[in-house]
Amino acid sequence: LGGTITRAIQQMSNATIIDEKVLNECLNEINRALLNADVQFQLVRNMQNNIKRIVNIEDLAAGHNKRRIIQQAIFNELCNMLDPGKPAFTPKKGKTSIIMFVGLQGSGKTTTCTKYAYYHQKKGWKPALVCADTFRAGAFDQLKQNATKAKIPFYGSYTESDPVKIAVEGVETFKKENCDLIIVDTSGRHKQEAALFEEMRQVSEATKPDLIVFVMDSSIGQAAFDQAQAFKQSVPVGAVIVTKMDGHAKGGGALSAVAATKSPVIFIGTGEHMDEFEVFDVKPFVSRLLGMGDWSGFMDKIHEVVPKDQQPELLQKLSEGNFTLRIMYEQFQNILKMGPIGQVFSMLPGFSSELMPKGQEKESQAKIKRYMTMMDSMTNEGKSCKLDSSNPKIMNDSRIMRIARGSGRHVREVMEMLEEYKRLAKIWSKMKGLKIPTRGDMNMR
Ligand code: GDP
Ligand code: MG
Repeated sequence: LGGTITRAIQQMSNATIIDEKVLNECLNEINRALLNADVQFQLVRNMQNNIKRIVNIEDLAAGHNKRRIIQQAIFNELCNMLDPGKPAFTPKKGKTSIIMFVGLQGSGKTTTCTKYAYYHQKKGWKPALVCADTFRAGAFDQLKQNATKAKIPFYGSYTESDPVKIAVEGVETFKKENCDLIIVDTSGRHKQEAALFEEMRQVSEATKPDLIVFVMDSSIGQAAFDQAQAFKQSVPVGAVIVTKMDGHAKGGGALSAVAATKSPVIFIGTGEHMDEFEVFDVKPFVSRLLGMGDWSGFMDKIHEVVPKDQQPELLQKLSEGNFTLRIMYEQFQNILKMGPIGQVFSMLPGFSSELMPKGQEKESQAKIKRYMTMMDSMTNEGKSCKLDSSNPKIMNDSRIMRIARGSGRHVREVMEMLEEYKRLAKIWSKMKGLKIPTRGDMNMR
């Protein structure tokens, strides 16, 4: 896929005079790539028409940077398609919000409910889970297990068969307990069937959720539009979460879901575990959709931000997929040196939202400095402490304690820093064996 796009762009750059024919050829190739990524046919066609309107052939011929103009236009158009123009309802900490999750069976609702609760709990919320899936045997046990693991209060029943009754009881119970995020998990069916949609309508009417989240499996392909539309027609869906983005699917169905529900994507699921959950970030998502890899933007930034003499070495390390504490340290150094935070690493999926949330640049900077102090203490602690090892197991308890003492920080903070490291190392490891784009490829953006 990536090759296709690169080739398409390449063809354009080789043409001495860009004319409509070449533009069409390029668009056709990209269309094929998007269809492969499960973007709905109709949406692909809309995009194509929009691009033709936006990209001015004369401008292209007049010797402006052609590749850049077209690439940028396509990129922007896809970003626009993922923006329904109004943000999703955002719950407020300390104020009760009811969030209902809907989606077909197996889409990842129950898993995502817990992830969503856990995500907020880590940020100091008081979430609670209600299992209104009385259809599937074992549904309550699954939610109970998840909730228990995350220490999140839950409500459900083994005997009650009325989902509306359970949903209402659960919501009332947690309202009394002053939970600020009451999450209602619902049933799914294998197919889109009338009974399911009627049930969703009833649960929604009875619990009056502040937000209804449509959960979509990224691998459902072209079925996304109909599925999302069917849910939207029965309940007022207000947000989308795309799951299983750790798999092969590129997630083009998200464009369909956004179009069908007129709601934004708010999170993506990237694994089976509780913390494999990321705030949706449109740019890396679109890069991936275009087969440019999640890190094409990241590569751009490396060229822009990392000192020239350090680039080859860093790129080499990247392709080896070995993310050591020392690499993290060096990158932190680069980030701080560059002033405004959020440069190199903010381009990586998961990085910007977690390590450096928007509007919290100062705090993020302080946090990074804190991490670096602790890492300084690790090197001082003696050569035995291997900053260069990518094995987190070298950090035993006594070493963690010494680092905490040496840097005057709390043990909890050292653990937090190591957690951050593990998280980044995981993202980093995905780059292993990746063909490092050349400077020329990068100019596409
Ligand atoms: P539900 O029927 O909609 O409630 O779906 P579940 O939450 O039970 O999930 C169905 C399956 O998908 C389970 O095996 C989950 O572990 C798995 N799953 C959910 N989200 C993700 C994800 O983001 N990545 C991966 N790899 N698996 C997921
Ligand atoms: Mg379920």
